[in-house]
Amino acid sequence: MRFAEFYNGSTGPHISFEVFPPKTDAAMESLRRVLPELIALGPSYMTVTYGALGSTRERTLEIAALIKHEYHMESACHLTCVGSSRADLDGILDAIRRSGIENIVALRGDPPRGETAFVPPPDGYSHGNELVAHIRRRYGAAFGIAVAGYPEKHLESPDRESDLRYFKNKIDAGADIAITQLFYDNADFFSFVEAARALGVTKPIIPGLLPILSAKQVRRITSLCGSKIPPTLQAELEAAGDDDSRAEEVGIRQCVAQAAELLRHGVPGIHFYVLNKSSHMRRILAQLRPVLAEIRQN
Ligand code: FAD
Repeated sequence: MRFAEFYNGSTGPHISFEVFPPKTDAAMESLRRVLPELIALGPSYMTVTYGALGSTRERTLEIAALIKHEYHMESACHLTCVGSSRADLDGILDAIRRSGIENIVALRGDPPRGETAFVPPPDGYSHGNELVAHIRRRYGAAFGIAVAGYPEKHLESPDRESDLRYFKNKIDAGADIAITQLFYDNADFFSFVEAARALGVTKPIIPGLLPILSAKQVRRITSLCGSKIPPTLQAELEAAGDDDSRAEEVGIRQCVAQAAELLRHGVPGIHFYVLNKSSHMRRILAQLRPVLAEIRQN
């Protein structure tokens, strides 16, 4: 089932999960244990990220295929333009297609560590919209395609207006949905969606949420992607200090409140960056279930 089919129906809102391919065999074993726990929480589909060069890349398809064929849950492979020529991308896309995966999250990717600017590989692509257009040209409607959206604008963007214009280009190139970068202030998401709609973007825009598990982790991730932490949340995390279990309590409370507000506002779904863990997601979804039931009934 492709992305569009989820969001065109009347069965939403859809909960989806994102996992990443682990670097070590031990972490891969741990993910294999966590996957059935995540699947038991009833997401509509799961996506698997694509590493910045290196060995984890092959695991993206391996994990997506495991989710699809062993657990009979729809999955998507993320794919970036980093380090791949068009022929390389075709090789990967052909393998994804052969394995029966029907959805791709198409991205430019970040510059490799130590480099500040993205340099397109020889005979490769410079931007997400080019990858989307390539997939549509070569594979027609065989894949559902998601692209990335940035409620607080992309880090490299000089201003919000140009970022929104390029976002629209990506959708117009043939994307079915957009999934957003993580954010902690719903006002940023609402204003991003409003501005995108004003530009003529009609496709579903799915908010991406990262439940906080530790103060250190959220500091690292937000510094990489540029998302800001609202002052009240920041103060609560500072009070938790290095006590991860206390920070996780703050994170779960905050995530439930943020997700409930988005759902009540009518979002088509929520994409959770689950960080290959399940216990926090079990608690978050237990608290969101009444909200989801209420919305699905109306
Ligand atoms: P683009 O859409 O190409 O945008 C990148 C920058 O270029 C933006 O500033 C944009 O405004 C600008 N731009 C776009 N088009 C043009 C143009 N024609 N001319 C000039 N400027 C332009 N990274 C990974 O490595 N692996 C993953 O699996 C992964 N998954 C992600 C999933 C989601 C939902 C999100 C939100 C991000 C993910 N990322 C992943 C991170 C992503 O690769 C980075 O944010 C990357 O820097 C931008 O990718 P993009 O596809 O949004 O790029």
